[in-house]
Amino acid sequence: MNADTFNALCVPVNLPWKQALTVMDDTAQGVLLAVDPQGRLLRTITDGDLRRAVLGDVPDSKTLADLPGREPLVADENATPAQLQERMNALSIQHVPVVDAAGRPIDLVSARELASRIWLSSPHLGEEESVFVEEAFRTNWIAPLGPHVDGFEKELAAHVGMGHAAAVSSGTAAIHLGLLLLGVKPGDTVFCSSLTFVGSANPINYCGARPVFIDSEPQTWNMSPQALARAFEWAQRENRLPRCVVIVNLYGQNADMDALLPICEQYGVPVLEDAAESLGAKYKGRASGSFGQLSIYSFNGNKIITTSGGGMLVSNDAALMARARKLSTQAREPAAHYEHVETGFNYRMSNVLAGIGRGQLKVLEDRVRARRRVFERYREALAGRSDIAWQPEGEGQYATRWLTCFALTGGDPADRSARRDRLLHALERHAVEARPVWKPMHMQPLFAGAPYFEHAPGEDVSRALFEAGVCLPSGSNMSDADLERVIGLLLRVLGRDQADKERAAA
Ligand SMILES: *Cc1c(COP(=O)(O)O)cnc(C)c1O
Repeated sequence: MNADTFNALCVPVNLPWKQALTVMDDTAQGVLLAVDPQGRLLRTITDGDLRRAVLGDVPDSKTLADLPGREPLVADENATPAQLQERMNALSIQHVPVVDAAGRPIDLVSARELASRIWLSSPHLGEEESVFVEEAFRTNWIAPLGPHVDGFEKELAAHVGMGHAAAVSSGTAAIHLGLLLLGVKPGDTVFCSSLTFVGSANPINYCGARPVFIDSEPQTWNMSPQALARAFEWAQRENRLPRCVVIVNLYGQNADMDALLPICEQYGVPVLEDAAESLGAKYKGRASGSFGQLSIYSFNGNKIITTSGGGMLVSNDAALMARARKLSTQAREPAAHYEHVETGFNYRMSNVLAGIGRGQLKVLEDRVRARRRVFERYREALAGRSDIAWQPEGEGQYATRWLTCFALTGGDPADRSARRDRLLHALERHAVEARPVWKPMHMQPLFAGAPYFEHAPGEDVSRALFEAGVCLPSGSNMSDADLERVIGLLLRVLGRDQADKERAAA
């Protein structure tokens, strides 16, 4: 429901009921909100109320105030979807109006919306996954390892133009192996993008290494080259150059590798590229995830393509990848008996899940196009709003738009953050899952005390993006109707905020 429809629902309580019938038909929500001259809600008028008036031969001159009725059931702004649902169930009603402190309706939640939640990013299976999985069953390759694992690795490596791939149990496991393969040891320093999911940084702790977090730049929301350069200067002075740099491609947008890689090369430090969210993206014509000495992808349930859970390590270095396979299967030495010299892990992907992955890989391009289309639709629908800045797509970039994200602009940080929270809360009330942008690692209690390098001294870009940033539902299987439902809500909530501000300024 957009703002115009919602405003049309709010009718004066002295409106003749015959006229209300027309409004009911035009708005098609099955409910009207009858308000007093101050805009306070007095009555909720349902389809049924008006139908009974027709059957009861109520004179045309009677108004909504004259119809039999009861006090409206209302909710305040803080009501959760569960509370709203409970009230609707208890009273067998289909709508609950939400009112502000003065009793004016500001929102209307329907039972229908609550029954069909819109997810941030849900799995989207194609047609061939089950064929591959059935083949695994038929041939009894249910064990970890097997022909689908080999096939998935070869197909994915070819897809992104890398020499080798190793399928593992998660993206996080791939990063852990990657750090070990690059020689990260207890006490070592590892540089890492701050604005990311904790899965990028947890493996630094697994290795007993010390993270140093690098801020984002406004252009890509990814690692800031100037912050990276300052971090290296500091590390050299402190005589603790990092063992490697974890560069994240956030929300499907590649980091600016042309600026970042030369800095790492200058210090002779390898890059582990975290492309968990950017499989299918391109940077200057090259596949995202083909820039690191080692790169990783994730097939977690909410990613671009999924195996329900899984990850992939890719590289052009055959020796490193042979070691990856060994470490991920308990580091067994080549001997018929089980001989072990070093600590290994049970990190391999199972043959059944790799079958799902092979099917998903066939529809990857499709999924990326669908997500980009979702983004374009949001951008088009909200084009008139100057209080929104989308995550930019830099020159030469082809992002997956894994999640469509924007940051609110205008006002001071506290105001932006309050508006962001109101928006998320309003979406949640309508059973729409949206999220803040990742909370940066340098702000996490887990990493308290870790050194951090801002984009520019006094300019903390990732913190600002977190405080004002929103990720919208972006699934490749989102229906047009769901997309329009989210857009209608966004326009209404953002518009209401703006109207409040204008009123306050007047
Ligand atoms: C999802 C994700 C990971 C971790 O992947 P899992 O497969 O969930 O372990 C790592 N980094 C980023 C940026 C991610 O989005």
